Amino acid sequence: MPEQFADLRRQLIEAGRRFDAHGWVLGTSGNFSLVIDRNPLRLAITASGAAKGDLSADHILEVDADGIPLVTTGPRPSAETRLHLEIVKARGAGAVLHTHSIWSTLVSDRCAAAGGVAIEGYEMLKGLHGVATHEHREWLPILDNDQDMRRLAARMVEMLSARPDAHAFLIRRHGMYTWGRTLSDAVRHVEIVEFLLEAVGRGGSPGVR
Ligand SMILES: [Zn+2]
Repeated sequence: MPEQFADLRRQLIEAGRRFDAHGWVLGTSGNFSLVIDRNPLRLAITASGAAKGDLSADHILEVDADGIPLVTTGPRPSAETRLHLEIVKARGAGAVLHTHSIWSTLVSDRCAAAGGVAIEGYEMLKGLHGVATHEHREWLPILDNDQDMRRLAARMVEMLSARPDAHAFLIRRHGMYTWGRTLSDAVRHVEIVEFLLEAVGRGGSPGVR
């Protein structure tokens, strides 16, 4: 298990460098997690306040199903740990990734009144799990931001159940969450969704005017 945890840490460190190079996790924003075990549930998750482009093994902790770190003397887990745990439970995800990009921030604000943003007709949609054609219509739900994680998690769980096909969602003026069966699936989803948000945002599609 220690070897496996070391490898998971290396994978999250690499994801952090990759997203930082795009400017999607500036100023210690964002957080990443990977499932270590499902029964009982244990996650590897980034520490609160860690710069994602400069992560070291010490910045990645192991938490239980309640978000409590197994080692209590080290850094604290991300403030958004509860959201990661609930996404893993709701979607059976093996990895959950959260970014704070310019385009997720802008598009989530412009489309907030509609409760989400519809993205359709783009070839890049085929990078989303199970999508085989550009004719797919992806609905990215938008939740209002909230510093009360218990309340935000409850609204998110409700939204995930109402939108079983969603591959990702936005939090208004905050950022984007996506997930995957594996970390590489989740990394691909971040790249695809960030690309699509930028395309929609720059293009001024009807949904974002
Ligand atoms: Zn955040």
